[in-house]
Amino acid sequence: MTITRFAPSPTGYIHVGNLRTALMNYMIARKNGGTFILRIDDTDPIRSKEEYVDGLKEDLTWLGLHWDRVERQSERLEKYREAAEKLREMGRFYEAWETPTELDLKRKKQLNMGKPPVYDRAALNLTEAEKTKLREERGPGVWRFRLDQERIEWKDGILGDISIDAASVSDPVLIRADGQILYTLASVVDDTEMGVTNVVRGSDHVTNTATQIQIMQALGGAVPTFAHHSLLTGPQGEALSKRLGVLALRDLRERGVQPFALLSIMARLGSSDPIELRTEMKQLIDGFEINHFGSAPTKFDVEDLFPMTSRYLQTLSLPDVAGEIKALGVPDDKAALFWQVTRENITTLQDLRGWWDMFSKGAEPMIADEDKEFIDEAMAMLPEGEFDETTWSTWTTAVKEKTGRKGKTLFMPLRLALTGQAQGPEMAAVMPLLKVVKARR
Ligand code: GLU
Repeated sequence: MTITRFAPSPTGYIHVGNLRTALMNYMIARKNGGTFILRIDDTDPIRSKEEYVDGLKEDLTWLGLHWDRVERQSERLEKYREAAEKLREMGRFYEAWETPTELDLKRKKQLNMGKPPVYDRAALNLTEAEKTKLREERGPGVWRFRLDQERIEWKDGILGDISIDAASVSDPVLIRADGQILYTLASVVDDTEMGVTNVVRGSDHVTNTATQIQIMQALGGAVPTFAHHSLLTGPQGEALSKRLGVLALRDLRERGVQPFALLSIMARLGSSDPIELRTEMKQLIDGFEINHFGSAPTKFDVEDLFPMTSRYLQTLSLPDVAGEIKALGVPDDKAALFWQVTRENITTLQDLRGWWDMFSKGAEPMIADEDKEFIDEAMAMLPEGEFDETTWSTWTTAVKEKTGRKGKTLFMPLRLALTGQAQGPEMAAVMPLLKVVKARR
């Protein structure tokens, strides 16, 4: 049974970077008929906010990434304490009292000597008397997990064979001096107890994975299959983090990006598979192979979401957008024509408003000086009553006969005068929507 989880910390909204993590874990679960857990990593009571928990759920729901169950770390603190106790009994857990400043100094010294800045385990050599003294002077210390200094190896679903020398990694702090359980311990306990079989996360977690594997083994848990996807960069390879503010899912949604545009790109970006528009989750899942993804940083251009959104919208039929169209005030009997006319001329659904305003209120006409007389003449010949699909051809034929103009010099000034734009939908189809313009004259 495949079990995956998406484990965001509710300290912010989902952005394009962690969307990839969510999506990959979701697809692995669904592809294998497994379970997808939404795990809220809220052990930090200060930074975690309920508003972000709601936001995360909203964003996932918008994308159609449905979870099978929710787990919250803040409700499982007792389990983490039990695991900590177990590690303590095993002699794999030790208390340390260095202040951040002291640790910093140690790191600087090591770097000066050309050594890797790894915690020197000074606390392991403290006598009981020294510990008691430190505890009296400084209060409780942090709790570190004592790594076995051997190579930690795993076959990564994306990165291939990984081998990390545990001696090059600091013994991780799992409990802070104030008693707060840290993510590393909580995550290990959860992954083990919940039977998580596959973990996909960003390559910034590779070192965490090494230490987590040892903690899992110490606690006697099964080690899941790990895969670390590359981090996203901007189009020029620049760090994305600077721009994360604009790349939150809710901002993209606000800008009119459609879920399937985002999903189609994100489910394949950075893999050897082509990026194609998909309109069903099943298509995305069927063609998804984690080992097709590469380890190089993945370039992402937010602007690519818009042409994809536009293409997605063209696949929609009237019932899909009827609500939006009705909300604009388009009469029911004009809705189908309105959609037919606009669907290929919009980037996002928000562009519909501009079209409807233009049709219903009339556009600012564009009339070149040399066309003024011609347009006056043509406008006088517009038929009375409602326009229909034949209006354009009947009218332009009559105008052509009267004025002798033809081709582009006939059609373009008329289009510009009626729509204020040089390009756009077929005028024959536009005319029946334009009746209000006529009424205005
Ligand atoms: N809460 C962690 C994060 O957001 C989860 C990492 C993991 O997948 O284990 O980075």
